[in-house]
Amino acid sequence: MSALPWPPLRDALVGEEPYGAPQLDVPVQLNTNENPYGPSAAAAADIAEAVREAALTLNRYPDREAVALREALATYLNGDGGQGLTLANLWAANGSNEVMLQLLQAFGGPGRRALSFAPTYSMYPEYARDSLTEWVAGRREGDFSLDLDAARAKVLEVEPAVVLLPSPNNPTGTALPPEAVQVLCEAAGNGIVVIDEAYGEFRRSGVPSALEVLPQHRNLVVTRTMSKAFALAGARLGYLAAAPEIVDALRIVRLPYHLSAVTQAAALAALRHAPELLGKVDELREERDATVAWLRAQGFQVADSDANFVLFGSVADRHATWQALVDRGVLIRETGPDGWLRVSIGTPQEMQTFKQALTEVRAEEEGGAA
Ligand SMILES: *Cc1c(COP(=O)(O)O)cnc(C)c1O
Repeated sequence: MSALPWPPLRDALVGEEPYGAPQLDVPVQLNTNENPYGPSAAAAADIAEAVREAALTLNRYPDREAVALREALATYLNGDGGQGLTLANLWAANGSNEVMLQLLQAFGGPGRRALSFAPTYSMYPEYARDSLTEWVAGRREGDFSLDLDAARAKVLEVEPAVVLLPSPNNPTGTALPPEAVQVLCEAAGNGIVVIDEAYGEFRRSGVPSALEVLPQHRNLVVTRTMSKAFALAGARLGYLAAAPEIVDALRIVRLPYHLSAVTQAAALAALRHAPELLGKVDELREERDATVAWLRAQGFQVADSDANFVLFGSVADRHATWQALVDRGVLIRETGPDGWLRVSIGTPQEMQTFKQALTEVRAEEEGGAA
């Protein structure tokens, strides 16, 4: 008789829920920080043509090194804070989630620690769990900033193999100042510091990218994604820039031919349309700033945001507020500290619907409380 449970999940996974925001079919979806504007007909046609060409050779495995794609990504990053990045500095995978899991597989593992500062991206502890890395979460300040002395002390105490920090942070929207990256990279020694810039393109003007200091820190990794500003979440393409020895290490853990020929073709074609796909970023930033101002005017606490979403609070019963918004056809996200909610920035019309719904829900709650 086997002593294994059925199904024979390892202990650490028993009772775990699969990650995922609810995918509800409601008219206004403001819960996963997607770009509300899809690719244009011209971009879609070009992507389709590139995929059609790739289809003619789908009997063959794809370019395992994704050379053309990584070169195109280097060129793109060199226009957004990157300094002389080349193919050797770039790595790509199926979403930046896969990139970060690979980082943990290569640099984490039993007897090693991964560190972040909460509130932080809820997937990080899962990469740690799945790579058998010990997970440690420090704290951010009340305004969601990072106290640099405390952060340095935490890194020195924990001696993490990998530090993971989004900038702008999810779920708070807070960007890290450049000194923070320097402090963390220096304190980490030979540990890897991953600055997750999934929302990098939405940062306010004057806020630098960590890419600018990449040449100064061999242990710095900057991850990006085509899922958010690039309006390409469905294609699954994430990437990083780092020193070549870090890229080399990831080759050891990646699955063979992990990036399909279809994915590579679609992403390359999308990159040719970068100015157009990114064309709505400025509008989304303006809408974001307007949303922050409106929520503040309603008396909510609102975190400053450099991303395409806004975290606001506090509500007495956030699940009730969330549900009442869903009932009005508006889906936002229950995440962040208790009492807070996160809304992704949609089109002006979608934001109008959100504001209207939230106003109604509040009036109802106040009526109910009276
Ligand atoms: C959305 C998001 C990502 C992107 O994930 P992909 O796998 O590239 O779609 C990465 N990090 C954070 C913090 C995010 O919110």
